[in-house]
Amino acid sequence: LAVSRNRSLATAVLSRYRFISTLVLAEHEGGSIKASSLSAVEATKSLGEDNSVSILLAGSGPSLREAAQAASCHPYVSQVLLADSDKFTYPLAEPWAKLLHVVHKKGNYSHIVTASDSFGKNILPRAAALLDVSPITDVIEVSGSHLFVRPIYAGNALSTIQYTGSDPCMLTIRSTSFPVASMSAHSKSIAAAIEQVDLSTFSEDDAVGKSKFVKLSSQDTERPDLGNARIVVTGGRGLKSAENFKMIEKLAEKLGAAVGATRAAVDAGFVPNELQVGQTGKIVAPELYMAFGVSGAIQHLAGIRDSKVIVAINKDADAPIFQVADYGIVGDLFEVIPELLEKLPEK
Ligand code: FAD
Repeated sequence: LAVSRNRSLATAVLSRYRFISTLVLAEHEGGSIKASSLSAVEATKSLGEDNSVSILLAGSGPSLREAAQAASCHPYVSQVLLADSDKFTYPLAEPWAKLLHVVHKKGNYSHIVTASDSFGKNILPRAAALLDVSPITDVIEVSGSHLFVRPIYAGNALSTIQYTGSDPCMLTIRSTSFPVASMSAHSKSIAAAIEQVDLSTFSEDDAVGKSKFVKLSSQDTERPDLGNARIVVTGGRGLKSAENFKMIEKLAEKLGAAVGATRAAVDAGFVPNELQVGQTGKIVAPELYMAFGVSGAIQHLAGIRDSKVIVAINKDADAPIFQVADYGIVGDLFEVIPELLEKLPEK
């Protein structure tokens, strides 16, 4: 009995201290790895010193191979896994979750990490169910290989979580909490190996699920991505109509900013819901966040807390947004925005 107890203790200790190997599920576009996925790679640095990081890219066509080349030069990446198949042209949860399952069964990773964006949030929980583990979502700090911090109660409290489940420990990380490692600044002399994923066990049935791709509609590719923009200009219900919201777009254009919106503005049909910022929208952390006609509900503030400077314009001096704003103007946005548009220099 004593021997078996010692052995199980040793196994537990060994499994806690065993070599860390991490798989990062990355998203790519136009031959580059998306910034949010680069933040996920950055987050793996804190999992442990001897962490061997593999990056998984899937899709088809030349842009996939370009992205793989780029990933292979990343300083923390020791292996690039490539699933080149038209089954992964669109990020549908069913085939991608199955892909993660297949890749994990071969690589037996201690951690699987992805960004907490619409891509990662769609795929990782399903893959976690297939692997029978509980994922830890929205991680903002990695304190150790199995110790993480994540916000709760719409960001009003932080919870520290010790993962005690079996491998793999699956995480989505909030990309605004981790820097984006610049690829060019760290180019390495020996690129990581690029390996094709063996898809022979991946049946046609695995590629078909309850969801299907309908269409991809993209807003304005000229504008910076809302999740990574340096400046965000947001409009709320105070804008009153879709027509008036165009003022926000003009101002964003002059400032080279991304456009955001509150849920009330989205629900009123002023703008599409991909512009929603907050607890159930996008999390942003720009250097400058400008809020026009936004009251400052806690669910909205949950998405802007990490902004460096917050500027609020509201005609109600008691609006809660002023409690978090660094600068505020109590005034009518229909006077303030035209004045800003007039005084700001052309780009
Ligand atoms: P309002 O609260 O109506 O505020 C409008 C503001 O405009 C007012 O303060 C008013 O004084 C000001 N105003 C009006 N006219 C002018 C003018 N001419 N000039 C200047 N100021 C003017 N909300 C989000 O934004 N993001 C989320 O992700 C989100 N998730 C949610 C999740 C849940 C589960 C729930 C229950 C709610 C969520 N909400 C979210 C909704 C949130 O509670 C608020 O209802 C919403 O944020 C309010 O949007 P608003 O500030 O535009 O509208």
